[in-house]
Amino acid sequence: MQPVAEKIFFAGEHLAGPLMQTCGGARLSGEAVARQVVARLAAK
Ligand SMILES: Cc1cc2nc3c(=O)[nH]c(=O)nc-3n(C[C@H](O)[C@H](O)[C@H](O)COP(=O)(O)OP(=O)(O)OC[C@H]3O[C@@H](n4cnc5c(N)ncnc54)[C@H](O)[C@@H]3O)c2cc1C
Repeated sequence: MQPVAEKIFFAGEHLAGPLMQTCGGARLSGEAVARQVVARLAAK
């Protein structure tokens, strides 16, 4: 789940906790990671 070298970020249903194996979980995970990426870019 941890980004690699601040360049490769992981998202998807497999990281969606209790919503694992669902499309809803995949979407929420993707949105959360996208927010993380934007925050890291903004901090640079
Ligand atoms: C038969 C079946 C029925 C389902 N029914 C439901 C349902 O009714 N409701 C529900 O909520 N969920 C359902 N699911 C689960 C849902 O499909 C998944 O949870 C969801 O699609 C996961 O989305 P994701 O984006 O995390 O992963 P995926 O949809 O698996 O997307 C991963 C993508 O990465 C690509 N990829 C993989 N390796 C690489 C690589 N090395 N380089 C580049 N690309 C790569 C793959 O080709 C794929 O396009 C079902 C799943 C199956 C198999």
